[in-house]
Amino acid sequence: MSSERLGPSTRAIHAGRAGGDDVVGPVHRSVIQRFATAERFGDVMAEQEPGFLYSRLGNATTSEAAAAVADLEGAEAAIVTASGMAAVHAAVLALAPAGSRVVCSLSAYGNTVSLLRDYGPRFGLDVQLLDTRDLDAVRAACAGGASMVCCETIANPGSVLADIDALAEIAHAAGARLVVDSTVATPILCRPLSRGADVVLHSATKFLNGHHDVLAGVVCGSAADIARVRAVLIDTGGVADPEAAWLLRRGMTTLALRVERACANALALARFLAARDDVVAVPYPGLDSHPQHALATRLLDGGFGALLAVEVAGGRAGGELVMDGCELLERATSLGGVTSGISHPASTSHRQLSEEQLARVGVPPGLLRIAVGCEDADDLIADLGRSLDRAGAAAALAGGVQIP
Ligand code: PLP
Repeated sequence: MSSERLGPSTRAIHAGRAGGDDVVGPVHRSVIQRFATAERFGDVMAEQEPGFLYSRLGNATTSEAAAAVADLEGAEAAIVTASGMAAVHAAVLALAPAGSRVVCSLSAYGNTVSLLRDYGPRFGLDVQLLDTRDLDAVRAACAGGASMVCCETIANPGSVLADIDALAEIAHAAGARLVVDSTVATPILCRPLSRGADVVLHSATKFLNGHHDVLAGVVCGSAADIARVRAVLIDTGGVADPEAAWLLRRGMTTLALRVERACANALALARFLAARDDVVAVPYPGLDSHPQHALATRLLDGGFGALLAVEVAGGRAGGELVMDGCELLERATSLGGVTSGISHPASTSHRQLSEEQLARVGVPPGLLRIAVGCEDADDLIADLGRSLDRAGAAAALAGGVQIP
């Protein structure tokens, strides 16, 4: 049956499944395979015959997981990696030649930015970090030619969207590939390859797996590009472990259901929060107030993502009080799992920065990041509502922090 005619839920359940009688396939733990003859051994090693011989070169379980993501993204090929960062690293090393220019969104995931900024020059890359919402700036950076333009469909924490269609046109005019990290959007909401992107990658640690029990990544693209990425992974060792790949594939069976629920929860929470007096801003692409709401409506299909930033009143102290007051939302990092989490950058990842420095990196001191999961929306709303109420009462008693 051609999977072209199947819907995303069906694909997420069935795509890439190996044949055989088992409805649930095994984990192929064996690192090596044996061969009946020297000839067959040599043919598989020379890739003249299909087969596996050593897990760093390829493994049946990781291949199944990769085939499933390739199917969902509409890619010719995909490869699963040890983490999302291993996917970013392998894609850059494979597809950006020494001396070439790489243009990347400043809003990209922090380690993607530091990988390019701190290590790119060691590989002779000319890395330009800029705001990819400014298409003229991207055009100017690409003017002398580039190998790669990198962006994220939805970049966190502020939900900055990439105009993939426009960026693909600009990248291609400069002879560059458009590489899109679509971790937050997932192939359920957006398929960047169908909009002109050349490579899509994911931290599969997030929504693709969905249960906070796997570290993995994936790169999708043309067969030729994925062969280049595979060659880098063979040399650098960033391949996925088969156990992780099996858990990833199992998690993916519920991807469409989870994304649908989490997006509905996020929209309900965003509307609830935006209506409160003790909330300063809710930059969620599903709200009319988001500056890129029109783009979000064009780019995303079936939801606006399950990552929510909310700036609460009371600055750093207000953010800390609201985070500490949550009972259901877990004080934890990461996103894309069934459990909802909350983090307050000003008192965790960015705690060493002053108010001025926070302003400079675009993180208001009262900003909270909510990774919305699959619980009941009413329970999430009640938890945050109670915490905001308590934070307001505590601030009023303390007399110092102004939370209306
Ligand atoms: N890309 C994005 C958008 C992410 O949010 C993350 C991690 O949070 C990564 C890449 C890196 O993924 P991993 O932690 O699986 O290496």
